[in-house]
Amino acid sequence: MDERVQEIIADLKSYLEYLKGMGIEVLPVSEKFSNSESASPGHQAMAETLEEIRQDLGDCRRCKLYRMRKTVVFGEGNPKAALMFVGEGPGYDEDVQGRPFVGKAGQLLSKIIQSIGLQRKEVYIGNIIKCRPPQNRNPEPDEIEACHPFVLRQIQAIRPKIICALGTFAAQTLLKTSIKITALRGKVFDLDGIKVIPTYHPAYLLRNPEKKRETWEDMKQILSLLQENESRD
Ligand code: URA
Repeated sequence: MDERVQEIIADLKSYLEYLKGMGIEVLPVSEKFSNSESASPGHQAMAETLEEIRQDLGDCRRCKLYRMRKTVVFGEGNPKAALMFVGEGPGYDEDVQGRPFVGKAGQLLSKIIQSIGLQRKEVYIGNIIKCRPPQNRNPEPDEIEACHPFVLRQIQAIRPKIICALGTFAAQTLLKTSIKITALRGKVFDLDGIKVIPTYHPAYLLRNPEKKRETWEDMKQILSLLQENESRD
């Protein structure tokens, strides 16, 4: 067999091994998704840009977290993404690098994104709070309250078709509920015309790998909603 073909087969094998390791045994077929064609012109005309929101956030001191943080982690990705991920808040690595989801949980999130045929740069990744809580403790209500408007403005600027809320804090904050993530995950909610699908936080999946299968179910649902949306546009 041609050496190049053997190389491709070896690459494919290792990719399939990694998917299997994540508990994924079915391969989705995906196209590339962006919301550019279908975005409503009204929203586009009125919405502020991500740059404007970042500028307004500035060297934020709206809550006590500024005292201990190194960096304000705003978010990153495709400003016209059809799919947006919202996590809880930066951890140690994110605080150092100024980018969301770059630590261990972030590496798992990248794999989750790849598992539906997308790359990080094609989606948008943000957080409910933009500064790292000391010792990675849970965000406190006053911190969430101070920061929540910014993620809502980011959502309005991007107008994704789907938001995947990662974990308890993201899901409960966006959906204004205290229902547990176990009950919220996999269901489709509405946030001002945008579908919100909660799933487990990647850090939780690292501690509970047997839950990856449920997240994979949620990701398949997200993919099929994206495809449905694409075929309607
Ligand atoms: N966990 C989060 O919720 N967000 C990050 O950016 C990193 C880890």
